Amino acid sequence: MQYLSTRGGIPPISFTQAVMMGLAEDGGLLLPRTIPRIGCETLLSWQELSYPELAFEIMSRFIDDIPGSDLRELINKSYATFSSDEVTPLVHHGDYHILELFHGPTLAFKDVALQFLGNLFEYLLKADNSILNIIGATSGDTGSAAIYGVRGKERINIFILHPHKRVSEVQERQMTTVLDDNVFNIAIEGSFDDGQSIVKRIFNDISFKNKYRLGSINSINWARVLAQVVYYVHSCIHVAKHEKDSTVDFAIPTGNFGDIFAGYIAKKMLPPGTIRQLILATNSNDILSRFINNGDYSLSDLKITSSPSMDIQAASNFERYLYYLMDSDSAKTKKLMEEFAANGKIDLSDSQDQIKRDFAATTVSDAEVAETISSFYKEFDYILDPHTAIGVKAAMDLKTASVPIICLATAHPAKFGDVVKDAINTSPDIPESLHGIETKETRCKLMAADKNAIQAFVAEHSLDASS
Ligand SMILES: *Cc1c(COP(=O)(O)O)cnc(C)c1O
Repeated sequence: MQYLSTRGGIPPISFTQAVMMGLAEDGGLLLPRTIPRIGCETLLSWQELSYPELAFEIMSRFIDDIPGSDLRELINKSYATFSSDEVTPLVHHGDYHILELFHGPTLAFKDVALQFLGNLFEYLLKADNSILNIIGATSGDTGSAAIYGVRGKERINIFILHPHKRVSEVQERQMTTVLDDNVFNIAIEGSFDDGQSIVKRIFNDISFKNKYRLGSINSINWARVLAQVVYYVHSCIHVAKHEKDSTVDFAIPTGNFGDIFAGYIAKKMLPPGTIRQLILATNSNDILSRFINNGDYSLSDLKITSSPSMDIQAASNFERYLYYLMDSDSAKTKKLMEEFAANGKIDLSDSQDQIKRDFAATTVSDAEVAETISSFYKEFDYILDPHTAIGVKAAMDLKTASVPIICLATAHPAKFGDVVKDAINTSPDIPESLHGIETKETRCKLMAADKNAIQAFVAEHSLDASS
């Protein structure tokens, strides 16, 4: 399988090259040249596969430069860290199938992709006798999932900046209690935006970036999308076993458009009609629901909500969908993305019919989140986290009676215990991985939000690319 850039500015590359490149060198995003189709018979033959076996079947259709036995091993290792044998189990409450994606080490769905990406990096670096220094900024969830993806791995160091005392206590401790030598937590005296801007400026220092082989962990890496395709197919297969009809809808709480884009790929792969509708749900940072409902993709001010992992404006994976929407025309895609970079908006109302065939969308307020957590708890005795509640509320509003709906549960409620407690007056049970976390030893470097000082710290603690 060859990979191309959405902006058409690089020659075709292989899967492993695409993983190591992350962002395409022409500023675009990488996509497979074609999307493999899965026939009905193949899908039926997958019914009894375990999650890792199914992951192998799907991923190997996109990966032809890693030997099959090695890929199987990488997949098995990545999902052995999950606390559920099914990896992503489905639970059924009334009309809702809840797809629990939070049984990984940091209790959020990002583990599904980052456990795999960490192992994949380790494998590719070993084959190449090379090293990687990962640097990233986090507002909470991504940082811990990335740290757990690479902790203790050879040839990789990771530096994660988080805003000092502006992430939740649980989120902070999930990062700072990891004491492996290759993990460097930096608490900066500033905001998440300050951290992100420092990371961007360090990456823009091209000679520094090349000298230290800096790599990133953000959601634009194709391997992350690919790992997420698996649970869409897995849950389709399992719901089909319960229901007469094999058509399903999905409701997806969305921020950077990574998770729902994996659903879009799954929809294209599977036999027509297997996935009927992808429902995109945003919090009041509603750029994506405005885009789907009116073709208006325009930035507005960032709002702080009770679902912080979705407090995002420009969605980093949006360009991938835009490319398909433009019929794989990279020149058009490039022009539109340049227009967006210059003006902070693009008008896609001409493409409205197609967009509405691909997605439905809605926006959910903080008040509705609290109501949904509360009503779901009363009715089913099941606790939703605020992000999951956004998808469930969208499902309540947009589902059709005849089609089963799968709601993606993206975080364990204990990660957002305060919001949950305010909504239902009860605290969620604390999962085992968080037991005792408040008293564990921590390591973290507190620094001013000063790019030069942080860059010097990274240089001092980086793995040496020349040895
Ligand atoms: C990252 C995240 C999301 C949003 O996923 P995207 O791929 O960015 O759309 C939703 N919920 C939780 C808990 C997350 O951590």
